[in-house]
Amino acid sequence: MMGGLWMAGMAGAQAMQTTAQVQRDAAARSVAYEARSEANELRHQVERLSLLNQALWELIRERLNVTDTDLEKRAMEIDMRDGIQDNKISARPVRCPTCHRISNSKHFRCLYCGQLFEKPVFG
Ligand SMILES: [Zn+2]
Repeated sequence: MMGGLWMAGMAGAQAMQTTAQVQRDAAARSVAYEARSEANELRHQVERLSLLNQALWELIRERLNVTDTDLEKRAMEIDMRDGIQDNKISARPVRCPTCHRISNSKHFRCLYCGQLFEKPVFG
């Protein structure tokens, strides 16, 4: 009996739900589904890139006689090219002091005239 009353109550509540609410719920579920799919795809790509990166590093370390310390040092240097130590390459526009065109902070020289950027350019 209690179950029947609960069911009747639920049916009433559902009847009161407007078509607009149903559409908003469906749209929200669709957005959530797409976000989950994209996150799964990105996770898969990161795992694949990590694997390939590890393979590349092991090959390079063996064949070029460089160390993990060399790798860490270079990673730190590249990280600091944008003036911020955040363990990632942050690409941002940088105006070349020589030709005044805009390059990308990921590069250590101007893409147009080859001017080497000094650290203050990024800082
Ligand atoms: Zn330039």
